[in-house]
Amino acid sequence: MEPESKTIRLHALAERAAVCRACALCETRTQVVFGDGNPEAPLMIVGEGPGMNEDATGRPFVGRAGQLLDACLKESGITRKHVYITNVVRCRPTLQEGASIRNRPPSAEEIHACSSWLQQTIEIVQPLVILCLGAPAASAIIHKGFKMTQERGQWFATPFASHAMAAWHPAYILRQHGEVFEAARRDLVHDIEAARLKVIQARREPQTSLFDGVE
Ligand code: SF4
Repeated sequence: MEPESKTIRLHALAERAAVCRACALCETRTQVVFGDGNPEAPLMIVGEGPGMNEDATGRPFVGRAGQLLDACLKESGITRKHVYITNVVRCRPTLQEGASIRNRPPSAEEIHACSSWLQQTIEIVQPLVILCLGAPAASAIIHKGFKMTQERGQWFATPFASHAMAAWHPAYILRQHGEVFEAARRDLVHDIEAARLKVIQARREPQTSLFDGVE
């Protein structure tokens, strides 16, 4: 596939997603946050959902969690030009607490409603490797009920990519303190580095249709 055609197809998909009203998150979003990065990248990063900054800018991972992700990518020799980044839901899940509005994890229903956009995005990008950030992404890509504490850092074959692994979500790391924070941050750098090396390995493997058997 020509590089331009992936870009054009993703653009067309993003235009359709921009008016999606398949779940209640459309009522509170500022805009749909579709994805960002290089459509030709062999590595896709899938996070949880947009937060306040992402909802405001229309780009994934631009707040504090995004800055931490960028720093960890850089330590692994990777920039956003080397990856395509998206989320399991594309509108910001929020929680009203008094006068303030907070981010919250997406519900199973919201993830299910948005799964078609994620699957179509993966079909276009056809990543060799997917790095899931956090349990919602791992449960959507790898298997339901994914246990981060037990299964993070392990490789799985999935219908979406030959190799998928889960790493700590940067927002989770930011909620930790002291040595726990440092250890989780080191884990993320290590897992990104492992994903980069897995891309090199996957490029040598014969490729089959990623969506064989996916309905
Ligand atoms: S979160 Fe996904 S399914 Fe729900 S309205 Fe936004 S784009 Fe549509």
